[in-house]
Amino acid sequence: MHRFPANLLDGYRNFMTGRYSEQQQRYKVLAETGQSPQTLIVACCDSRAAPETIFDCGPGELFVVRNVANMVPPYEPDGQYHSTSAALEFAVQALQVSNIVVMGHGRCGGIKAALDPEAEPLSEGDFIGRWMSLLKPAAEQIASNSILTAAERQRALERVSIRNSIANLRTFPYIRDREQAGTLSVHGAWFDISTGELWIMNGETGDFTRPGM
Ligand SMILES: [Zn+2]
Repeated sequence: MHRFPANLLDGYRNFMTGRYSEQQQRYKVLAETGQSPQTLIVACCDSRAAPETIFDCGPGELFVVRNVANMVPPYEPDGQYHSTSAALEFAVQALQVSNIVVMGHGRCGGIKAALDPEAEPLSEGDFIGRWMSLLKPAAEQIASNSILTAAERQRALERVSIRNSIANLRTFPYIRDREQAGTLSVHGAWFDISTGELWIMNGETGDFTRPGM
């Protein structure tokens, strides 16, 4: 049967009678004046880690890029298709966001696959394998650490990956320049889907701690 998913239609009806009608004016202003979000967030595609939900953000507040395992690739102006880099370029150069947040999350399937040397490609193209190879050196080091349990290795790589992505962000010349000029700041965060805890990365040490509530 070729039918639009019923739960989406139900949700849309709720949205129109609820949030949209409450914030109609805001949507109208955004439509006329354009968006000017202050924050770009790089999050995972995982259905349990939606940034707008976690940060309780309304329309126009967050510019969101989602990809498998919330990774930022290094700056590679090589004429290939770079969807995440295109989003970064637009957010920084056109929207001039003042914050970039890389948000990882617990039980990330992409990170789990990166730690599993036996993981079989899901298709011939092995797009996930190729994408996750961005983390290969870190994944190999962590995977061979037998002192840690599997869950600890997973959490470690989820956090190392955030630091890795932040290092890659700084390979983009316009991000590095704006950060040095003090007009852009870069942050890391990690969301625990099982408890709802949010952990924030300390920019100097790279350690993750919970914010005061
Ligand atoms: Zn994930």
